Amino acid sequence: MTSATAWIVLLYIASALALALAAHLWRRRSVPGAASCSLLMVASAFYSFGYAFELQSRTLASVRFWLSVEYLGIAFIPALWILVAIQYSRDDNRVHPVLRGLLFALSGLTLVSNLTNGSHHLFYRNLSLLERDGHFFLSIEQGPLYWVHMAYTNGVIVVATLLFIFQFRRSVRRQRQQVLYVLVGSLVPWAAILLYLFRVVRPYDPIPFSILVTGALFVLGILRDRLFQVNPLVLEKVVGAMQEAVVILDDRDRLLLHNRAAERILPGLSGLAKETANTSIRPLVAAHPELLALLDDPRGRAIAGTGDESVAAEVPRSSLTLRQETRLRHFEASLKPIGHRGLLLGRLLMLTDTTERQEFLATLNELANRDELTRLFNRRHFMERLDQEISRSRRHRMFLSIILFDLDHFKDVNDRYGHLVGDRMLQHVARTTRSCLRDHDILARFGGEEFIILLPQTDPSGARLVAERIRGRLAETPLDLENGQEAGVVTTASFGVCSLRPEEHSADALQLLHQVDEALYKAKAEGRNRVVPAAPSIS
Ligand code: GH3
Ligand code: MG
Ligand code: MG
Repeated sequence: MTSATAWIVLLYIASALALALAAHLWRRRSVPGAASCSLLMVASAFYSFGYAFELQSRTLASVRFWLSVEYLGIAFIPALWILVAIQYSRDDNRVHPVLRGLLFALSGLTLVSNLTNGSHHLFYRNLSLLERDGHFFLSIEQGPLYWVHMAYTNGVIVVATLLFIFQFRRSVRRQRQQVLYVLVGSLVPWAAILLYLFRVVRPYDPIPFSILVTGALFVLGILRDRLFQVNPLVLEKVVGAMQEAVVILDDRDRLLLHNRAAERILPGLSGLAKETANTSIRPLVAAHPELLALLDDPRGRAIAGTGDESVAAEVPRSSLTLRQETRLRHFEASLKPIGHRGLLLGRLLMLTDTTERQEFLATLNELANRDELTRLFNRRHFMERLDQEISRSRRHRMFLSIILFDLDHFKDVNDRYGHLVGDRMLQHVARTTRSCLRDHDILARFGGEEFIILLPQTDPSGARLVAERIRGRLAETPLDLENGQEAGVVTTASFGVCSLRPEEHSADALQLLHQVDEALYKAKAEGRNRVVPAAPSIS
């Protein structure tokens, strides 16, 4: 086998390998740089394939044809090469459209000037065939456009190498091995050029092989996860064992890792994790505006300090309520930026189930604010609301009224029917009164058998009407004794009513209570089972 035959076979293999790499990269094209690198490998395949046929050609016309095929690849190699470098090394992997256009315009110029060389001879001044070992080799005399093409190609390789060096210097230790692959990959063509210049492989062109090696090294560097490549199994186990829902994102919000607890909250996570291309979590959380806002919170990307100890400056939080099965569950979500040397590596999204805590708080609140027997608000809560409603009524210049009532001769009920019936009577009064009120009226048990009502936006005549309605309803609704013998027990009550006028500025809660208590006292004194408005100084 002549050296030319061996070279040709190697070129076929190189073409096939380049296409295989291209396909592999294309499947993972969402990884920054992978799509451009895939196209670079396609270009390299054109180069190798055309070159294999060039070496088998026996006429200048045939050589010229296969050279054109090679240039379909060669012309685009510099543009694609620099795109890989920019997309790999820049945080925001977009390439400005003007730059992209310029790069492909230069590649287009190379291709067109090469294909049309016959009419201008600016790319090659002269092409001829030399014979050696029964094979024909092309001998070229370079023209000015050939040198433009060479300057472009070599300039691009220099710039790409510089970008990779820059990327290497700012990488954390864990990432450096991968950047090293890419950096070494970008140096391989220089080795090929040196081999060629020092006549080690002349008359053969080793560059197609060097681009293949570069491609393989790029694949190693590009296609690895940029973060957490060390011991992923241990990391997964640790995260999996956590009770909190944990989602780890890279710096572009692509899903790196999550646990079962997170899947229960965001069921789409498992599907997202199965996708071969790393995709952003954003579409998945779009249904939860709270989470989306959290991802967009600038504090979630802020890293303080530049050393190994770089930490999150602040951790933004938000709360989230989800319906799971039939139950509402509450979560607290926090998003912690993970940094190193001042750079954002990724983010840690944690969701803590706060449902039990919130329900417990609600129970405590209930215990603190409600009366156990009647389930009405207690005096403590009423006093709080009274202060709030007084200032609100002043602000909006609205009436506010209070009704205080006390059951008549309640002692007799206890004495005659016993304390338990007395208790049931209090519950009965609470229910009956509530049924006479609007939703936003505040009803509380003020003391033993004393009830108080806060009526926002109600003037004195309105309040008297409400009091009369309750008085009438109580007097006509007996409590069933449930012993099947006696008729029900009826209780009456005496009512004091007072109002805060919109123009009233001085009166405070205690004064109002004093007024309404006096009115109630009067109602008792005047014979009970009646409504008495407070003295006209206020109402
Ligand atoms: P009047 O108000 O009409 O002057 O007469 P009264 O009999 O209602 O008088 P007073 O206010 O002195 O009596 C209130 C009674 O209410 C005394 C107390 O035994 C009873 N009482 C207070 N709280 C409860 C309770 O939670 N359950 C029961 N069963 N009785 C209670
Ligand atoms: Mg009483
Ligand atoms: Mg009383």
